[in-house]
Amino acid sequence: MAIVTVSAAVSHVGKIRSNNQDSGFAGETLFAVADGMGGHAGGDVASALALQRLAEIDGQYNSAVDAEFALQEAIVAANAVLTETVYEHPELTGMGTTLSALVRVGHSVALAHIGDSRVYRLRDDVLTQITIDHTFVQRLVDSGRITAEEAKTHPRRSVLMRVLGDVDAAPEVDLQVMDTRPGDRWMLCSDGLSGVVEHDDIEKILKNQIAPRDAANALVKESLDHGAPDNVTVVVVDVHQSFETPEVTPVIVGSAAQPIAFSQTVERRTTRIPGIPGLRLHPRGPASTEPSHFEPGSEDYLDELIEEDRRRSRRRKVTWLVAALVVLALIGVGLFAGYRWTQTRFYVGESNGFVTIYQGVQQGVGPIQLSHVFQQTDLETDALPDYNKRQVQNTISADSVTAALEIVKRLSDAAASGTPTDATGGTGAPTGTPAPSVTPSPGATP
Ligand code: CA
Repeated sequence: MAIVTVSAAVSHVGKIRSNNQDSGFAGETLFAVADGMGGHAGGDVASALALQRLAEIDGQYNSAVDAEFALQEAIVAANAVLTETVYEHPELTGMGTTLSALVRVGHSVALAHIGDSRVYRLRDDVLTQITIDHTFVQRLVDSGRITAEEAKTHPRRSVLMRVLGDVDAAPEVDLQVMDTRPGDRWMLCSDGLSGVVEHDDIEKILKNQIAPRDAANALVKESLDHGAPDNVTVVVVDVHQSFETPEVTPVIVGSAAQPIAFSQTVERRTTRIPGIPGLRLHPRGPASTEPSHFEPGSEDYLDELIEEDRRRSRRRKVTWLVAALVVLALIGVGLFAGYRWTQTRFYVGESNGFVTIYQGVQQGVGPIQLSHVFQQTDLETDALPDYNKRQVQNTISADSVTAALEIVKRLSDAAASGTPTDATGGTGAPTGTPAPSVTPSPGATP
């Protein structure tokens, strides 16, 4: 029995972008995804050119190492095509593309990868990410500066450190050969899927959807359900054992499936680039906003980016600190105003057995007392009629120091006469109180 593959490729523009800069390919042995980028309408051209050049190596190989070599050669050639195209079309300056590709040879796969598109393998219901993103945040994760969780929301998560194309760096492609076996399901995708849908959800869909086409469609739908802010491209490849080798018609999706279109100023040369099929000149609208971009990956530059991140985080911290201080200051001002108000209040109570005027309010805030002795009189509380004694023990509020002094005066009179009075100044004798029977103590009069 022979090892065969059954595959599907799907690409969708997403819900926000105006054009699809992704390209996908599912062929006889070659499977690939490219995600283009370019400041001015170059991303779709870059991914299409790279993928079309790569598609030329779809075919049978004697060994995975041969396939790996073919991949490497094709990628170098694709890079040259991009450079030449920018030379012919300077308006495409700065265009580039990711490229993740897999060639299946017998029980092996050769993999080539540059950028932040991904290759996954589902084996025994466990999904494993095979490629490593060539992104700024991945570098930060690798060097232990941030966690993988923090990388998901990092402001620079779309900054690429390595791509193919007209960028100020030689293409550094990851190449490897791995084993594969019947039952393996490989999945290649652009960050329009992996940046939007959680790993576990991707795994669940790949586990549950039987046919590669259904799985690819379900993954694209999942990204759309999450708002699909970016183009989404998915290639699913199932490895089977079979007595017969099925006829395969290569499938191209996304930008590479369309005739390549260039924006063009009138005086520019309009010659076709040899060897690039479907190339034609076609005016294009202005480029949509481009969230992904490339930054050269020198260590100096990386350090600079990290330093900028630190500065941003410091600025954030300072902003928070200032906000917190303002809030604290407002609370402080409020508390102070409240305290000032309490100090306009007085009450009459007891201190060491003597009637005493307090400044402030009886209530405290936790352990903080909001009142203090303003004046201790020489009127003993024991000299007061019972009713007034209880009033004093329960404290009597006063709006001002004058009112407090008047209360003391009334208490003093009550002590002198032995007749209970309403010390608050209310009219009428207190009701329900026992008849006065206390003789004022000597010296109880203030
Ligand atoms: Ca993308």
